Formats: sequence, C-alpha cells, structure tokens
Amino acid sequence: MRPVIIVHGGAWAIPDDLVEAHKKGVRKAALRGWRILEEEGSAMDSVVEAVSIMEDDFTFDAGIGSFLNEEGRVDLDASVMNGDGLKAGAVASVYRVKNPVKLARLVMEKTEHVLLVGEGAHRFAEKMGLEIIDPSELVTEREYLRWKEMKEKGYSPRQAFVKDSTVGAVALDSKGRLAVALSTGGTPNKMVGRVGDVPIIGSGLYADNLKGAAASTGHGESIIRVVLAKSAVDMLGLGLSAQAAAESAVDLLKRIDGYGGIITLNRRGNVGYAYNTPRMAVAYVVNGEVEVSI
Ligand code: ASP
Repeated sequence: MRPVIIVHGGAWAIPDDLVEAHKKGVRKAALRGWRILEEEGSAMDSVVEAVSIMEDDFTFDAGIGSFLNEEGRVDLDASVMNGDGLKAGAVASVYRVKNPVKLARLVMEKTEHVLLVGEGAHRFAEKMGLEIIDPSELVTEREYLRWKEMKEKGYSPRQAFVKDSTVGAVALDSKGRLAVALSTGGTPNKMVGRVGDVPIIGSGLYADNLKGAAASTGHGESIIRVVLAKSAVDMLGLGLSAQAAAESAVDLLKRIDGYGGIITLNRRGNVGYAYNTPRMAVAYVVNGEVEVSI
C-alpha cells in the first residue's frame, strides 16, 4: 500500500501576514509524519507526531499558543482514532499537559475508556509519566493581548472568528491502516468547561479502515450538530471520492450557517479537502511529494 498523509492547520480568515507561518507549519508536520510512514511506521505514530509538532508551534490554536478561555487560561482538547478496530481516545479541558494528543493516545491504549476530562485526565497523565506543566506555560503574550482586547470589546467566541487554527492529521500506512489525530485550544474567550467537536468522536474526527478517515476544523458547536467527520467517512464508504465527500460534508455545515473545513483520505490513499472559510492551511504528502495549499 502506498502511504499518504494529509494535515490541516485550521480553517479561518488567515491574514496575509500569517500565511507563511501556516504554510511552513503544516509542511513541516506533513513531512515529519510522512517520514514515519516511509520507514514503515504506523499511521497512528505518524498522525500523533504530525499533530505534536503543530501543538509545539505557536502559530496554531493547539498546545502552546492556543486561545485563552474567559478566565484567561488555555484549556486543551485532543483526540485520536485508529481505523483498525475503531479504537479511539480523547481528552478535554486539560491545562497541565504540553501535548494533549499524546495523552489522548494513552487514553486509547492504556484505559478501557474513550474520553477523560480535566482533573482526571491530569492524574492519568501524571501516572503515565507525561510531563506536568504549570498552566501559565501554555500562555503566549500574543494570546494574552488578544484575550485582553476581546474582554475590553466584549466579543463572544462565535463573533470572535479571528483565528481557528485547530490542527489535525490523517494518514494511511503501508499496511493499509488509517489513523487520525486532532488537537485544539478551542474557541477564543470560551466559557470555562466549554468543549468543542475535537474530542467528540465522529464530530471532530473518524477513521474506519473499511471506508476512510476525516478530520474537521472550524466552529465546534456547528460541527457537533452535523457529526461532520463521521458523515464524511460514511460518504467515503458509499463510494464518493475523497474530494466529493469533503465538499458534501462542508455543505452540511452551510445548512446550519456553520463555518469550517475538513480533510479526508479514502482507503486507497486519495486525499480531499474543503472549507467555507476564507482560507484553510493544508499539506499532504503522496509518493514523497509534498503539496501545500492555503
Ligand atoms: N473546532 C475547534 C473547536 O470548536 C476550533 C477549531 O477548529 O479551530 O473547538
């Protein structure tokens, strides 16, 4: 099987001065993920590595550099899913872990659960030997200033459609296994306790070796209501091309006036992506050739 990876760095009105940083970030992540696939690594290893790299990149709304919630804290959500056996793991509202996607993977692999939140997720992270950090380490000056401005102007998360750089990756490995990973800081100035689509299996992401895999981005409340990723994967299962499935999924969002985007990968290794925002950062590697689109 010919391995393939596609990653996204969020769908939103990426301003001209941030285009290069987004292009660079998704390109680097896709190439790192690809290297793992090329060396016969698993699709899961590949997507977790690609997403971790973007979590560590301040450009994106994931890991360090994420939006702050209404109380000025970074609250992170992440998830993973294996198309082989439909195994999934997710975490929500974590603020003491640098790479929540790694914690989501541990939930999948080391527990009998699918989703851990808040304090329980932190305790599990500690037990698994992940580095526990002070919440302030996730806050960058840029996001602190943005948060302060929003507070002053009284924006709601829906109005604050300024930056929605959730990150995601979908891969197919040489053994024909599909995997997907997703990570976000959610929406800006969100309510404490707000959880979006990212850790909701089927909405933020889905993978099924028999059909295909998908990773969403955009306004989480809308994505949840149309169960975006599973809808796209079901369309792949019905024989739609990866591109047609991505476009039809975004049509579902439009129906409820939602905004966002999605990346898709079918089981033969064809990629697709679509969005109804001004821009979406995407990179994919097929046959060792990297393509970047924004
Ligand atoms: N979907 C994410 C959320 O609502 C945000 C994003 O995609 O940037 O939490």
